[in-house]
Amino acid sequence: MKVLLICPERERRKDEAFLFRLGFLNLPYVAAVTPPEVEVKIVDEAYEPINYDEKVDLVGITAQTPVAPRAYRIAEEFRKRGVPVVMGGVHASVLPHEALEHVDAVVIGEAEATWPQLLEDFRLGQLKRIYRANGWIKGEEIPLPRRELLNPRFYFPLKLLETTRGCPHRCDFCQVSRFFGNRYRNRPLKEIAKELEDIFGLGPVMSPWAKRFLSLLSKDLPYFLKRRLLYIIDNNVVSNKRFAIELLSLLRDYDLLWWGHAPVSIADDDELLRLFAASGCIAVNIGFESLSPKNLKAMKKGFNKPHKYREAVKKIHGYGIGIMGTFIVGLDDDDPSVFQRTADFILENRLDWALAFIMTPYPGTESFARLEAEGRILTRDWEKYDSLNAVYQPLLMSVEELEKGMRWIWKEVFSLRSIFQRIVKSPRIHPLFYLPMNWSFHRLTRNW
Ligand code: SF4
Repeated sequence: MKVLLICPERERRKDEAFLFRLGFLNLPYVAAVTPPEVEVKIVDEAYEPINYDEKVDLVGITAQTPVAPRAYRIAEEFRKRGVPVVMGGVHASVLPHEALEHVDAVVIGEAEATWPQLLEDFRLGQLKRIYRANGWIKGEEIPLPRRELLNPRFYFPLKLLETTRGCPHRCDFCQVSRFFGNRYRNRPLKEIAKELEDIFGLGPVMSPWAKRFLSLLSKDLPYFLKRRLLYIIDNNVVSNKRFAIELLSLLRDYDLLWWGHAPVSIADDDELLRLFAASGCIAVNIGFESLSPKNLKAMKKGFNKPHKYREAVKKIHGYGIGIMGTFIVGLDDDDPSVFQRTADFILENRLDWALAFIMTPYPGTESFARLEAEGRILTRDWEKYDSLNAVYQPLLMSVEELEKGMRWIWKEVFSLRSIFQRIVKSPRIHPLFYLPMNWSFHRLTRNW
């Protein structure tokens, strides 16, 4: 049996295409729980065309909401040729009946739990319409992803690693916590160590003299040259402090640079910040979301305290760790002054990279249900649910103001003046990492 797993890509406007991709682990995880006798191939449509005439027995597609319509079109092409299609991922999990209008079967929840049974049913000619995961798999059941099925030429040369799943918070706009559950599940450290060993090998990045020599140019250069860069994709790297301390100490054994997501409250914990810095952390990705306590409370993220943001940024920077910040605009307490305030905050506090997105009420979330009840959902064209388009009626501004204002923030943040102020001017934090990243967004936004 041969199975084709597809990561679909919708057509984007040229000025909305992001310049590099980081790869993904979801399909390599599905491949990892596929029985060895089944041949698996992964196609990333962002880089390779789909061959609809390829001889395959079954197609599996994953899709987040904005790519769901594209996934449906792909499914229809295969089904026309008599090849059954299964769809999983967040969108199909929250809207299985919509997905079933386009595919033969839907996987609801984490596919690792149900995929082997689905394949067995398919082999016996007994494919069911819905495969629903019964709860969430345990941390120790998360398999080693089959990264070798992704073409490394397509992606920015860094590795992705997942150490935990789930999130106990219930931010009203977030599909992630619904999909992965409201409890953190840690993977066993020995499994993580095995994966790191497979990816990087144990020990120093290079010989001490070579490292010393290259570090004269930039202390990050040895790591970039040896591609010893890691992105920990967890929702929160410090979900459990004891586990985080052990993980950080493990990372030190691999002599690498890494970044991951953490709440702004990480700034309150000097012990963790010290360990972050010592383990090679070059960035924490922080969802500041809003400078308005009223907005944060409404979105159930009241644990973010905007009056502490400046101090937190200063503290994290003090440990030599950069900050990648994300903000959401167009919330109910946002009038048109939000754009200037957000850009000023990013510039004044010298965030090393930051993006502001338009609030997106993804289907299945509380924010979608609330806005729908208020009659403010403007479209169900899922392709527009990409955080770059306004799909609901904002309260204190027009849709046009919101879309223009978000783009204005990007232009301001990635202007040459801003890049100079935030990245080039001393004291500098990991400029080798942040300068190209900011520059690529400058190029993306300069004609906006
Ligand atoms: S903290 Fe992050 S992952 Fe958790 S619910 Fe909120 S937005 Fe989602």
